Amino acid sequence: MKKLVITIDGPAGAGKTTVSKALADRLQYKYIDTGALYRGVAFEAKAKGISPDDEHQLEALCNNLELRFVRNKKGVRLYSGESDISDYIRTPEMSMMASAVSARPVVRKALLGLQRKMGAEKAAVFEGRDMGTVVFPGADVKFFLTADLIIRASRRHKELEEKKLPQNLEAVEKDMARRDNNDSSREVAPLKPADDAILIDSTECSVESVIEQMMKHINEKIAATL
Ligand code: C5P
Repeated sequence: MKKLVITIDGPAGAGKTTVSKALADRLQYKYIDTGALYRGVAFEAKAKGISPDDEHQLEALCNNLELRFVRNKKGVRLYSGESDISDYIRTPEMSMMASAVSARPVVRKALLGLQRKMGAEKAAVFEGRDMGTVVFPGADVKFFLTADLIIRASRRHKELEEKKLPQNLEAVEKDMARRDNNDSSREVAPLKPADDAILIDSTECSVESVIEQMMKHINEKIAATL
């Protein structure tokens, strides 16, 4: 059977991670969380005291950075060199910092090659902001998943509480709106649906229903390639 590249783009908190993992499981595909890579750059920049405005130092950092995903007992983990940094990249601070570094052309350029390499064997579900527009313009099935801001913020608020990183709902909503605005208005690879993306609004849909809708499109694509 033909191996597909599936892309899922959309704003923060739309449910991309949950549905991407579920699709990858069902299809026995790889799941690649590209936001984690931008978070990895942000984490290393912070650790080395590099400002997200300093293109020159960010370029040097990216040239020496070795980010990779490793599957182990804890799930799919992000490694920077020999260190598992997965537990440090999900804080609200890293979310904002990732958004800041991701607007820098040198960072996007460095991660573009890495992401394409990860997709070389296909059979993968890629989650991010520019998967269908820039990284894999020729992807087999592209989705753009969104939901109303207040719904996305309450989901993220709940997630942060579960991770013992509580924040008040207004602060989560404000940060999310700011991050979406940064991501959508940047010059390089802004967040927007690809022309041929399938738009899905999860405001009033359960996770299961979103997965079913996506599987229907994927199965149609698989059938068309047989
Ligand atoms: O998906 P996640 O919220 O982990 O992404 C963190 C940040 O990384 C986003 O707000 C965005 O600025 C950036 N990002 C990006 N392009 C991607 C994935 C993430 O610019 N493909």
